[in-house]
Amino acid sequence: MTATDDAATALFAELTGQAPAGVWSAPGRVNLIGEHTDYNDGFVLPFAIPHRTVAAVGTRDDRRIRVASTFADEPVEVAIDELAQLFPTPTGSAPAVPEWAAYPLGVAWALRQAEGAADSVITGSGLDIAIASDVPVGAGLSSSAAIEGATASALNDLWDAGLDRTALARVGRRAENEAVGAPTGIMDQMASMLGEPDAAIFLDCRSLDANLVPVGIAEAGLAILVMDTRVKHAHSTGGYGERRAACERGAAIMGVPSLRDVSVDDLPRAAELMDDVTFRRVRHVVTENQRVLDTVRVLREEGARAIGDLLVASHASMRDDFEISVPELDTAVEAALAAGAIGARMTGGGFGGAAIALIEQDAVQQVTDAVNAAFAASAFTAPVIFTVTPSAGAHRDA
Ligand code: ADP
Ligand code: MG
Repeated sequence: MTATDDAATALFAELTGQAPAGVWSAPGRVNLIGEHTDYNDGFVLPFAIPHRTVAAVGTRDDRRIRVASTFADEPVEVAIDELAQLFPTPTGSAPAVPEWAAYPLGVAWALRQAEGAADSVITGSGLDIAIASDVPVGAGLSSSAAIEGATASALNDLWDAGLDRTALARVGRRAENEAVGAPTGIMDQMASMLGEPDAAIFLDCRSLDANLVPVGIAEAGLAILVMDTRVKHAHSTGGYGERRAACERGAAIMGVPSLRDVSVDDLPRAAELMDDVTFRRVRHVVTENQRVLDTVRVLREEGARAIGDLLVASHASMRDDFEISVPELDTAVEAALAAGAIGARMTGGGFGGAAIALIEQDAVQQVTDAVNAAFAASAFTAPVIFTVTPSAGAHRDA
């Protein structure tokens, strides 16, 4: 039992006066490379991080679901049979429950209708769900997939749904898209469900084929530093939707179902067919897909020390072509590289959140100090900097 397990169990006891039937957890993730490629049917290479969200859950016999979180002031309670009236949330509206509660309640709603779920999900009992987490929220480390994964794992067991990890990732995504109303891809949920120690998940977002790629970071004497800029991103504000729309526009102009079907060799033709902004959005996605493939190959053939330039090129593409970086992210990346990082890039959806740097294990302090100093010199809010190692995906803890 971790400290977060204990916090969730204590919250459960506070809520019910009892011990939970079980404790489940799921991690946040860092995306090593492959940004804004997931909803273009492309490739991503995330890994699960040690930070986890925990759900302590017990059954109740009145067919009601109550969710509580250390993150929220008040528990939220609804009848199971009310879920179908609450969700899906109409496009552009706020959920009918407090937004945080739409994640776990949306998972319950989506799980009840999941393809392949046992009929027992329909008659599944009421639940008390107590949530605690040490995943930084809104930092681009996917606290959203972590809360979805922890809840989905618990409900899969307690309702005997019998879904596999990929199906549970789909449940989480559906909750996020249709209950919360955030139009995100499947990467985060797959990383949180499928993560393994010392491996990244090479995911084809079209087929959902997932292959574990050993990263050998520690073995090579390296570490991955997360630099949380503390600039909060929000999916609901315009930037993310605008980028998705540009990608759809670009694919339509190229006459393909999605940008996955455009290769680097097609870019000169794309440049002739579309306006400059759409072209640059397309170029980011097309070259980023290639960089993911290259990173997987380089990791397998040469090891982690050789992927630095791919990380740096990915950041430049997001900054210049996709235009989703912010000055804090650029500063973190530049300061880390200047202090000797092998590679660095913003990670996650952009407009804030975190950057990562691949560094020598013995350079953690030096790079941390350099990034802190650069933020201070620009009068930015101090970043939160820590190392992560590729870690296990969702599981039952107790
Ligand atoms: P990210 O996934 O990058 O952390 P998101 O905006 O996608 O950011 O998800 C953050 C939201 O997820 C929070 O604002 C909150 O609504 C919900 N959430 C995440 N973790 C928790 C938690 N432990 N308890 C309750 N809600 C949470
Ligand atoms: Mg998220």
